[in-house]
Amino acid sequence: MRMPERWFGPVGAGLLACVILIIDLLIPTSGPVSILYGLVVMFAALGQERGAIKVWTGLSLGLTVIGFAAGPYDTTSIVWFVLSFITIAAIGILLVDREALRLAPVGLERRVRELRNFADSVPPLLWTTRADGYCDFLNQRFEDITGMGVTEALSDQSWTKPMHPDDVPDFLKTWEAARKRGEEYRTNFRLRHRDGSYRWMLSIGRPYRSATGEIERWYGGLSDVDAELRAQEKIKELNAALARKVEERTGELVQTQWRYRNLFDDKNIAVAECDFRGAKVLLDALKAEGVTDLRAYIAEHPAFLDACLATARTVDCNDTLLSMLGYTDRQELIAIPPADTVVDGANVIVGLFELIFYERSSASGPATLIGVGGRRVPVIFAANMSPDGRSYSTVFDITEREEAHALILAAQQELARANRVATLGALSVSIAHELNQPISSMAIDVDTCRRALELDALDRAALRRILERIERNTERLANIVERTRERISRQRRKPEPLQLLDIAEEVRVLLEHDFAARGAALRITCEPGIPPVSADKVELQQVFVNLLVNALDAMATTMEEKRSVDVWIARAETGWVQVSVGDTGPGISDENMTKLFQPFFTTKSGGIGMGLPICRATIEALGGELSARNRPEGGAVFEFALPAV
Ligand code: ADP
Repeated sequence: MRMPERWFGPVGAGLLACVILIIDLLIPTSGPVSILYGLVVMFAALGQERGAIKVWTGLSLGLTVIGFAAGPYDTTSIVWFVLSFITIAAIGILLVDREALRLAPVGLERRVRELRNFADSVPPLLWTTRADGYCDFLNQRFEDITGMGVTEALSDQSWTKPMHPDDVPDFLKTWEAARKRGEEYRTNFRLRHRDGSYRWMLSIGRPYRSATGEIERWYGGLSDVDAELRAQEKIKELNAALARKVEERTGELVQTQWRYRNLFDDKNIAVAECDFRGAKVLLDALKAEGVTDLRAYIAEHPAFLDACLATARTVDCNDTLLSMLGYTDRQELIAIPPADTVVDGANVIVGLFELIFYERSSASGPATLIGVGGRRVPVIFAANMSPDGRSYSTVFDITEREEAHALILAAQQELARANRVATLGALSVSIAHELNQPISSMAIDVDTCRRALELDALDRAALRRILERIERNTERLANIVERTRERISRQRRKPEPLQLLDIAEEVRVLLEHDFAARGAALRITCEPGIPPVSADKVELQQVFVNLLVNALDAMATTMEEKRSVDVWIARAETGWVQVSVGDTGPGISDENMTKLFQPFFTTKSGGIGMGLPICRATIEALGGELSARNRPEGGAVFEFALPAV
């Protein structure tokens, strides 16, 4: 408003009002002077606001009333007074209205400005679009946040440019779908900020409808939810990790539970769970006092053991344990203090207390459980102690094993008795077997002697040889008898160092008849420098005799000229002395090979089947080994090796 206008109106109006009032009062007419106050109101309205116009209108109406009051009171005056009054009031009203109209655009502009300021100052990024989605407004926050000019974004509709490229397709889909449905949408996307970083924003858009319900515009805003979303994301990750962990742990627990339950329900193994947590408190306290030897302490302080035992209780047991002890009611068994369920219970439970005291995890051993009616059940138990003082004991009923053990002992005794009987029998057989050969040899020699004596020409040398042989056989018989006597009285002869070649040669003399009778040759080969072996001479002779007689027997079907037995005496790689007796018989069948050394195995009609078992027993008693095999060129070989002296 300009200054002259501001003063011109009121001053002019004041002067005019004074002039009109003077005329009205000094010239008493019943004319229309007061109507001129309308001009005063008009003047007053020049450059004035509505309040001032109203004041001037009121003032003019007041002066009109004063002029009328001064008289005269004829009809003309009254008509003019009413007309003037109405005219002035109407002019005032019109001028006030006009002023209001004039001021209206100014208010609107201010409001728009205010709105603009408001829109630019609020924290969210605001936008508006036309019904077709054309964006026509973005508040200043758009530029503040993205660094991209609002004008530029609006002019080429590039407001999606600062969005994260990965999020644009989803956003556009949501935005179009919302426009199609005409409903509010909410979505998140990442928006690039001035510093180049992307932050998650929540975008909400809402339609504005006209009175007819048609969408006219869309209003919306973006708020920063980055921290919230990232926190949610973190929470989601943590939740997922937690869920995974829970799942894993649950799986493990289920597995453990399953294993434990399986173990618990095992039909063959009895299981009991005991609670020693109360005892653990006492034991821990004892340890804290510096006690190191639990058993010694308990021996001196039996009351302490009683206190510990009083806290121990059985928590659970499986059906196998119930039936093992003859119970049907689990509670009945559980109610019994653990120490009362086992023979020498206090001692056994102290063993478990030791696990707690010395921080060991398991113990096992034999025990005898006490069942219904005092029934005793021998068991082997294994107890595992958990760190918090609970024990899980598996109990294996060995009643049957104990019974079996008793049976085995009885059987062993019976067998030993039978063995003794059999040994005596075998001994008799073996004596018969051993005596058989020298006696028949002597019988032949005696017969030969008799026939020689009947001859005219006495072959003294031959007779001497025969007599010497008879003498040796007699000696041998005496030795056999002596050895048998010793064997029976369980006194082994003292072994002496013997040269195996000497034994072999002696046996050759003893068996001279037999070899001659079968037309078989006996070759004895000995490596030089063979060390002696430590043995009983007669026993070794017996081994040689057995092997050589067997060889002769085996060659019964061999052509006479091929009948030969070879005895090799050599040093084995082990340093032992090895003797091999090989023949040219048919060898040994696979089937017989496995049975050769079994007592009473024989393929001979008059055989006893004790020769080889006795030989093996003799060799083994001397610390050696006897075995048989077939020669590649035919025939069997029996070999034994003895440790050299
Ligand atoms: P016996 O001579 O009374 O049969 P042995 O124990 O001495 O008892 O021998 C058992 C069996 O071993 C003989 O019956 C024979 O079948 C077999 N045997 C022993 N030596 C030979 C051998 N050199 N060749 C083939 N078979 C043999």
